Amino acid sequence: MSEQKGRLFIISAPSGTGKGTVIERLRQLRPELYYSISATTRKPRDGEVDGVSYYFVDHERFRELISSDAFLEYAEYIGEYYGTPKSLIQDCIYYGKDILLEIEVQGARQVMALDPEAVTIFIVPPSLEVLEQRLRGRKTESEEKLHARLERARLELEEKSDYDFVVVNDDIDRAAEEILSIIDRTGDGSLS
Ligand code: 5GP
Repeated sequence: MSEQKGRLFIISAPSGTGKGTVIERLRQLRPELYYSISATTRKPRDGEVDGVSYYFVDHERFRELISSDAFLEYAEYIGEYYGTPKSLIQDCIYYGKDILLEIEVQGARQVMALDPEAVTIFIVPPSLEVLEQRLRGRKTESEEKLHARLERARLELEEKSDYDFVVVNDDIDRAAEEILSIIDRTGDGSLS
């Protein structure tokens, strides 16, 4: 085991906040940071690759994974399931590597309960109007799912005060830099 345990960083953000792009930038800026790859029952979007974006599984396999205690946390989000596999997280903690989890608020709450020292970051859009424009512009969802995501986003925004840090995604580079500075200044485990 490494002398210093790896730390968990949790990023949550409502759908349409632009969090995918911010995290992509973060990965370019800090390639050595580990990222958890979730399992989901959601169908892949164009360009998403199995084992890279997510592990895409069917509902039966997801249930098997729950039964075999394979998840650190899991949650239902608009009719689909999403879960964080335990194995990589455990290895990272053991070998002293920091790891970033990009998960929604119910899952984040589960991880906060398991690891109160996890550093939690909530990304917000500059406004709800911008969020709606982004979701509509993406054209990946049916009108019904889009409404469900918007409604969910409004509810999720109310949870931001439970997080250690709130970052406004008004500019991708600025938001990514702010998250990196949070990661760096919480390096000794203290929140400041
Ligand atoms: P999307 O379908 O847009 O990729 O993701 C929908 C939501 O599920 C996002 O808020 C995303 O952060 C969240 N999510 C992705 N992976 C996980 C996971 O492993 N656990 C939980 N609880 N949420 C996840």
